[in-house]
Amino acid sequence: MTDMRKVTAFIAALSSIALFSAAYPAYAAPIMLKGDIDRDDRVSMSDMVILGSSLHGRYGLNETQTIAADINGDGSIDSADLSALQDIILGGRNKFPIGTWIGDCGGAKRYFSFDSGTVSIVDPNRESSEFFTVEEDNDLMVFRASGTEMSAFITWDSELSFVLKWSNGSTETFRYFTDVMINMSEILTGRWVTSQGRTFEISGLSGKLTDKNGDISRFEYAPDGENMTFRFGSTENNTTGRKVKNDSMHFTVTWSDGTAERFTRQEIEERGGVTYVNGILIANKTYSLPSDYDPGGILPEAQAAFDEMMADAAKEGIYLSIVSGFRSYTYQGQLYSGYVNRDGKAAADTYSARAGHSEHQTGLAMDINNASSSFNNTKEAKWLAANCVKYGFILRYPQGKEDITGYMYESWHVRYLGRELAKEVSDSGLTLEEFLCIDSKYKS
Ligand SMILES: [Zn+2]
Repeated sequence: MTDMRKVTAFIAALSSIALFSAAYPAYAAPIMLKGDIDRDDRVSMSDMVILGSSLHGRYGLNETQTIAADINGDGSIDSADLSALQDIILGGRNKFPIGTWIGDCGGAKRYFSFDSGTVSIVDPNRESSEFFTVEEDNDLMVFRASGTEMSAFITWDSELSFVLKWSNGSTETFRYFTDVMINMSEILTGRWVTSQGRTFEISGLSGKLTDKNGDISRFEYAPDGENMTFRFGSTENNTTGRKVKNDSMHFTVTWSDGTAERFTRQEIEERGGVTYVNGILIANKTYSLPSDYDPGGILPEAQAAFDEMMADAAKEGIYLSIVSGFRSYTYQGQLYSGYVNRDGKAAADTYSARAGHSEHQTGLAMDINNASSSFNNTKEAKWLAANCVKYGFILRYPQGKEDITGYMYESWHVRYLGRELAKEVSDSGLTLEEFLCIDSKYKS
């Protein structure tokens, strides 16, 4: 490709930026490349010309140019630097990156998995994965996907690092990561707590581990299909395992020593005094609702799901009705005080929630037909237990899980979660607390 054609391609790529700006990294300040004497963020023949001129005394280098020109870092600018510069330029000619490289543009990381003539770009921040064909001519790389094009100049820093100068002016540094291709589905960005009491905070393919003693270490995480490696600084500290996805919030890793560790996604967020775990509104003995939290009744989606369930049950001769749906903070407080007066605090706490701690205040919980143990084992209770999940409900306080949920078995109390999530929780055989690795205990 002649220089003129190169310029034409570059301008063509520039004009397509508006169409495809998502594929370009946000602008990041240029970095200092060894050999980039004219500071255009690439190492090219023009740098050779300047260095050659300065060695012949025809050009005086300024301070930053001198730093860039001392390629072998020996403190002086001489013919050895010129020869090293030539090696960089010639070495980069038609050298195509293969494997997965971490692109870093002002701290935002994404992953480029190159194969011969193609690349898939995985961006955990955008949760996107894009596929391009790549043509390389000398140091210009042109990336094409259907109807779009972008281009960048590549400069090799070393065998394991290079820089792309994108046609929108941003520079992105790359370092070698692994020889396997990365898929979006292998990115585990988020906070995970494990069955060994550890917390992994993962961002893209790196992150922070807090062990059960509170000690922190940093890692890079290299996925390869179902195999995964956590790299803790040095090779001796690598940990390798096989990952099996359990559901949208869990996976289990079997480490190379045979031990298994279950990972649970756990993003706890508080909005206006209301706690959401992985986006799920939680009201139990640990997490309370503010006194003014009032959705005004059973939420429409939960009511619609109940109506559908009720209609289907009726076709089988099973009649369901809601005996208690939404309960306000104040009303729950009155109920609880009544039970305390009758049975004492310790007993009341096993079956009634304190104000702010009742799931009924969420507008997502309901008691069906008869809120007492005489409902247990009725044909309605059996139908409800077997079928409620299809409509997006779970039996919230199952038998034998009193220590975990904080409440005695309630065959009549269902919680609306939506169909997909209800199915996942039900299939797991866990209570909502176990599913999210949270507890349900009053602080006092
Ligand atoms: Zn209830």
